[in-house]
Amino acid sequence: MRIFFSLAFCVVLLILLISAFYARRSPKAIGKTVYVLLLATMQPIIGNLVIVVSGNKVFSNIGCYIFITGMDVIVAAILLFIFVYCNLPCPNLAVRCATLIILVVDVVQLLLNPLTGHAFTTEKLIIGGYPYYRLVPYMGLTFHRFVCYGIILWAVVLLFRIMIHTPKIYAEKYVVIFISLMIGILWQTIMIFSRTPIDRSMIGIGIFGILTFYFSLFYRPMRLLDRMLGDIVSEMPEMMFFFDGTHKCIWANAPAKRFVGIKDDQLDEVSPKLIEKFGSIEDDSDNWNLQKMVLSEDGMKYYAIEKKTMTFDKNKISGSLISIRDNTEEQRTLRQEMYSATHDRLTGLYNREYLYERVKKLINSHSEKKYMVGFVDVRNFKMVNDVFGSDFGDYAIKCIANWLRTSFSGSGITGRLAGDTFGICVLTTDFDKKRVENDLSTFMVEEGEKSHHVQIHFGIYEIVDKNIDVSVMFDRAHMALKTIKEDFQKHIAYYDDEMRSKVLWDQKITQEASEAIRNKEIVPYLQPIVDVNGKVVGAEALVRWKHPEYGLMSPSKFVPVFEKNGLIADVDRYMWRSACEILARWRKSGRDMFVSVNISPKDFYFMDVPMTLKRYVNEYGVSPARLRVEITESMMINDTSMRNRILEELKSIGFIVEMDDFGSGYSSLNMLKEMPVDVLKIDMMFLRNDNYIDRALTIIRNIIQLAKELGIESLTEGVETERQHRVLAEMGCKLFQGYHFARPISVEEFEDRYK
Ligand code: C2E
Ligand code: CA
Ligand code: CA
Repeated sequence: MRIFFSLAFCVVLLILLISAFYARRSPKAIGKTVYVLLLATMQPIIGNLVIVVSGNKVFSNIGCYIFITGMDVIVAAILLFIFVYCNLPCPNLAVRCATLIILVVDVVQLLLNPLTGHAFTTEKLIIGGYPYYRLVPYMGLTFHRFVCYGIILWAVVLLFRIMIHTPKIYAEKYVVIFISLMIGILWQTIMIFSRTPIDRSMIGIGIFGILTFYFSLFYRPMRLLDRMLGDIVSEMPEMMFFFDGTHKCIWANAPAKRFVGIKDDQLDEVSPKLIEKFGSIEDDSDNWNLQKMVLSEDGMKYYAIEKKTMTFDKNKISGSLISIRDNTEEQRTLRQEMYSATHDRLTGLYNREYLYERVKKLINSHSEKKYMVGFVDVRNFKMVNDVFGSDFGDYAIKCIANWLRTSFSGSGITGRLAGDTFGICVLTTDFDKKRVENDLSTFMVEEGEKSHHVQIHFGIYEIVDKNIDVSVMFDRAHMALKTIKEDFQKHIAYYDDEMRSKVLWDQKITQEASEAIRNKEIVPYLQPIVDVNGKVVGAEALVRWKHPEYGLMSPSKFVPVFEKNGLIADVDRYMWRSACEILARWRKSGRDMFVSVNISPKDFYFMDVPMTLKRYVNEYGVSPARLRVEITESMMINDTSMRNRILEELKSIGFIVEMDDFGSGYSSLNMLKEMPVDVLKIDMMFLRNDNYIDRALTIIRNIIQLAKELGIESLTEGVETERQHRVLAEMGCKLFQGYHFARPISVEEFEDRYK
C-alpha cells in the first residue's frame, strides 16, 4: 500500500510538473496563475510523499511541515486562481493585506511548533510492518484548519456565484473546476476526521490541479460553439437542409421547414417535398449549384440552389448540405438590365450588338444548315418623319418591327440595327421571297387619319463562309440593298459574286494606291478644249492609272472607290500639282493655254481646297487664272454658306471656277442661281439619245441663254460631231470638248500635237 501510494504520488507529481512546465510557457494570460497553482498543488503532495516513504520520525515530521504549510500555499493559490479565472475584480488593499497577514501568521505559528508543541505531534503506527507517523492535532492545527477552510470557502463561494450567474451553455468551464474542487475539499475533510493513515486526498488535489490546467488553458467551449453555429444557421434567411451520409435529412433551419411546409418530426419528407417543388435537382457530382425558376401564386420565383458535400473520415461522405436562396429580386433586376442592354427600347427587337452575337451563335450551332442575313431599310424614312411627324415615324418603325417579328422569328432572329434599318437572320429555306415581295408591295402604315405606303427594301447575303465577321455579313447584305435603285417593283436584292469581286477589287486597288502615286503609275492625261473655231485653248486634266497588271485604267474603275475611302484627296493633290507643273512648263515655252482640274466633292472633307491650290500655283509660279477648277453641284449640298465661302475664296485667289457635269443633277437650274461660278460645263452625255437630239439641243440652247444672262460662260463637253459643234456655236457656246476634237491623250502627245 505504501509503495502503491508512493508511486501514485510520484505519477501525480510528474504530471503536475509537466503541466506546470506547459502552463508557464502558455501564451495565455492565465498561464502564469495556473503555473503558480500547479506548483502550490505539488507542495502538500511532496510533504505526504516524504511522510509515506520515510518511516522515520524526523523525516516524517519534516514531511508534515511541508504538507501543512503547503495547505496555506495551496488555498492562497486557489483563491488567486479563482479571481483570475472568473475575471473577478481584485479585492481592495485592506482585504488583500488581511488575507496575507492571516496566512503568514498561520505559517509562523506552525513553524514555531517544534519549540512550543502547540500545533501537533506525530504518533507511530505500523503499516505493512513498516513505521508510519500519523498527525495528532492540537490547538495550533485547529487554527490552521480554520484559516484554510475559511479561505477555501471564500474561493468556493466566489466560484459558485459565477457559475450560477453564467448562461448554462457557458457554465461548463466553471462546473468542472467547481466539482473537482469540492471533491478535493471533501476528500481532505474525510481524511482529517477519519484520521486514516496515508492522505489519499492528495490524489484528488493532484487531479484538481490537472483539471484546472486543462480547463483553463485548453478547453474550448465546443458546445457553446455548436449552439452558436446552430443559432446562426437557424436565423439565416437562406433555407438550409442538412443530410447525413445516407441522404436522410437530419436538420433543417426554420426558413427551410417553412419553405417545404414540414414540422420538426417530418424531416423524412424533405426530399420528396423538394422534388415536388423543383423537380429532380440531384446531380451526380458532390457539389453543384443551379438556378431554378418556379411559378408560384405571387408570380415567377427564382431560387439559387447549392449542394455541398462534406467528408470527414477517410474521404467517406459524412453528410451534405443543400442551401436554397430566394433571389427573385436580384434575378428580376438582372434580367431587366440584361433586357435593356440587349433589346431596342422602341421595338423590343434585339439591338445591333446583341443581334450580331445571336446570329453568330445561331449559325455556329447548326453548322449543317444554310442561313442568310437580311439588311432591311426603309426608303425615304426621313420624309415619313418630316411629312407625318416623328410619332407616326415611331409607329411606322414599330409596325415594321412587328411584321419582321411575325414573319421571321420562327427559325430566325430579328433585330434593329439603327434608326430605320433592321437585320434578320433566317434559314435560307424559310425565306419565301414571293411572300415577302408581296407583303412589301402593299405595306401600309395606318394610324387614324394618316396612312402611308412605306417602301421597305431587303438586301440579302446568303452565308457561305461562316467564319467571317457578322458585321461583314450585314455589310454585304447592305451592299446588295444599295443596288435597288428607285425601282418600285423590286424590294429584294441578293449579294452575289459580282459584288464580292467588286469588294475584293476595291480592297486591292486601295492597298495599291499610295504605292502607285509614288511610282508615278498614276498620271494625268489631257483632253483638249477648243474655241468656236476649233483652236485648242486649254485642256482638262483627267487621271489615268497605268497599272502594271491591268494596263491603262480609266478613272471610273478607281475614283468612286477612292471617293469612298478618302484616298481621292491624295490622287487629286497629285493631279493638281501635275497640272501646275505642266502650266509652269508651258509658260516657259510660251504656250498660252489653261488646264482645268477636277475637284471631288469629297476633297472638301479632307483639306482646305483653296489654300492647297494656292500653295501649288505659288510653288510653281503660275497664274491662278490658268488653273481652272471643276467643281460639281453636289459639293456640300447641305451647307450653302460654307460652299459659297469656298467659291468666293477660290475666285478671290484668281481661279476660274467651272461647274462640271451641269444638267446631270435634278436641281441644276436652281443651283445656278445660288452658286457663283464662272463657267458652266454642260454635259451632252445626259442628253445623248439620237432620237431626242432636237429636244436636247433645245434644252441646251435655253441653258446657254440663261447662263449668258447671268454672265456665265458656257462650255459643252461630250461633243462628238461637227454638226453638234456648229449648232452649239450658233447657240452661243464659247468652248467645246469632246471626242470630235480629241480623246484624252498623254501629256507628251498633247505637247507634241499642239505646239
Ligand atoms: P468628267 O470630269 O466629266 O470628265 C469627262 C469625261 O468624259 C472623261 O472621262 C472623258 O474622257 C469623257 N469624254 C470626253 N469627251 C467625250 C466624248 O465625246 N464622248 C464620250 N463618250 N466621253 C467623252 P474619264 O477621263 O474617264 O473621266 C471620268 C470621270 O472621272 C470624270 O468625268 C471625272 O468625274 C472623274 N475624274 C477624272 N479625272 C479625275 C481627277 O483627276 N480627279 C477627280 N476627282 N476625278 C476625276
Ligand atoms: Ca471634269
Ligand atoms: Ca464633266
